[in-house]
Amino acid sequence: MHIVIIGNGVAGITAARTLRKLSDHRITVISGESKYFFSRTALMYIYMGHLTFEQTKPYEDWFWEKNRINLVHDHASSINTGAKQIALQSGEMISYDKLIIATGSRPRTFGWKGQDLRGVQGLYSLQDLQTMIDRTNHAKRAVIVGGGLIGVETAEMLYSRKIPTTFLVRETRYWNTVLPDEEAAMITAHIREHSTIDLRTNTELREILDDGNGAVRGIITSTGEEIPCDFVALTVGVEPNIDVVRSSAIPTGRGVLVNEYFEAEVPDVYAAGDCAEMRFADTSQPSRIEPLWYAARAHGERIAKNICGERQSYKRATFFNSAKFFDIEYQTYGTVSAQLKNGEDTIVWQDADGKRLLRIIFAKDVTKRVLGFNVMGIRYRQNVCTGWIERGASVEEVLHNLGAANFDPEFFPQCEQFLVEEYNRKTAQNLVLKRKRGLSSVLA
Ligand SMILES: Cc1cc2nc3c(=O)[nH]c(=O)nc-3n(C[C@H](O)[C@H](O)[C@H](O)COP(=O)(O)OP(=O)(O)OC[C@H]3O[C@@H](n4cnc5c(N)ncnc54)[C@H](O)[C@@H]3O)c2cc1C
Repeated sequence: MHIVIIGNGVAGITAARTLRKLSDHRITVISGESKYFFSRTALMYIYMGHLTFEQTKPYEDWFWEKNRINLVHDHASSINTGAKQIALQSGEMISYDKLIIATGSRPRTFGWKGQDLRGVQGLYSLQDLQTMIDRTNHAKRAVIVGGGLIGVETAEMLYSRKIPTTFLVRETRYWNTVLPDEEAAMITAHIREHSTIDLRTNTELREILDDGNGAVRGIITSTGEEIPCDFVALTVGVEPNIDVVRSSAIPTGRGVLVNEYFEAEVPDVYAAGDCAEMRFADTSQPSRIEPLWYAARAHGERIAKNICGERQSYKRATFFNSAKFFDIEYQTYGTVSAQLKNGEDTIVWQDADGKRLLRIIFAKDVTKRVLGFNVMGIRYRQNVCTGWIERGASVEEVLHNLGAANFDPEFFPQCEQFLVEEYNRKTAQNLVLKRKRGLSSVLA
């Protein structure tokens, strides 16, 4: 059987590797971006000179041939599901028995005037990175539009080259659609500590100005202010990259429509990762796109297993994500929303310097089971935190053993103590933090 995968991101590559582990099928991976798989989340470190492109490749180049995974560096331009063929930009045709579409995302735009000018771009691909490097080599001022994770990474990249940057964020605080107030305030203040970054909250982009030669010369904000600049990064989110699918018979919505087994509505076609939009058998549940690294990896693995006969529906793992806001590391586990939901309670501790924060979300009912954690400026152990959530451990049990989750217990012993004190204040209890920080008792 010939299995063809379009897209060599983490979804496509995980599918290919898992298929190879489980089977002897013929595997071809097509990618227009790069011949070899690289870590997209490390793009910023190439720009900042911390890593070379070679160092972002998790596998040596010989790995693919040795594992009989055929790599085709080309762009798929159309899919004929009747003939089971893919046309490549080079003119070549590739036949498949099963097809996995793993074409990822692309930056979103909102039809702003001037968004196609030279010097205006998103940050998603290697090609985007190259144009950003070229364009910012001599940039005098930059503007970033949109305050998500890619926005703050772009700000750090420009800061590393000391390029004065105006950072436009529509909300009252950085990312406060996702972060609770304390976290959003902490990160907003931290971004503002960086002297070349001018963070403007409550401010949107109205228009991008042309220099008369097709390049950007400035922008106008929603308040009517004109800001001269020669580089604009549009970081207002991503959307599924499904151009190659739209011209085919494969049904799409926002992404490629799949069921809980990642099967598209055409035989022998699957979709995984950022480009897949999952519809559920329970039609009261809205369809879902999961534009996340860890989810894409899980999708790829599940599809490969399903193709190899271990057919099971996708079960979303306990949510986990990690990122960095300049110097502050961030990890989030389980459910932590910007606003508490019905039935949720929370305790939070943050240090006076505004560089470390711990939050636990737990159920208000008698179980008091933990639902989520936000950890900033401290590194916690993923298996411990997700283990507590999955086991339904109570907040008191978690607080008692909190030191076991800390990755660097020698450095941060006091944080846990402060959170326990916060809980005692809130509930008039006298809970004591366990001093022994053994993992075994917690994981048992
Ligand atoms: C700068 C940046 C930082 C990020 N940070 C985080 C983070 O901290 N945490 C997190 O969870 N997620 C993060 N993400 C998101 C994460 O990278 C994606 O969720 C993940 O890469 C999706 O994997 P994928 O395999 O679905 O798609 P992708 O990685 O997008 O790979 C798809 C591949 O398919 C190729 N392709 C598309 N169409 C075609 C075609 N027609 N023919 C041939 N090839 C095609 C694309 O060029 C691409 O190479 C970040 C993304 C970016 C850009």
